[in-house]
Amino acid sequence: MSHCIFCRIVQKTLPARILREDALCLAFEDISPKAPCHILIIPKKHIESLNSMDEADGLLIPRLFAVTRELAEEKGVATSGYRVVINTGPDAGQSVFHIHFHLLGGRQMAWPPG
Ligand code: AMP
Repeated sequence: MSHCIFCRIVQKTLPARILREDALCLAFEDISPKAPCHILIIPKKHIESLNSMDEADGLLIPRLFAVTRELAEEKGVATSGYRVVINTGPDAGQSVFHIHFHLLGGRQMAWPPG
């Protein structure tokens, strides 16, 4: 999808600080970090949101979680703690309609989130 900014990052036509890439997913630093560690983990395949995932995407879910966990370890937040967020739809504030995990860590988080 040429108008999707995350597809453009996958295609390398938009620059990003890429931390991890495999056949299924890509991880890169958030351009506007909300925590000392703020990484986005996305499937390479364009999927708008959690609402549009289906069972055919089943292999993606464990891979996205595995990459997220590995990056939390690499960034040194696995023990101190971190949060994984999937904003879905307007009330959650989703602004990029290509599903992504936010990996946030390196500071104390508030609960409930705003
Ligand atoms: P969300 O609001 O959950 O859809 O999250 C979208 C995230 O993408 C935000 O945290 C943005 O800062 C981030 N973002 C938007 N454009 C870029 C970009 N070009 N490179 C890296 N992160 C981006």
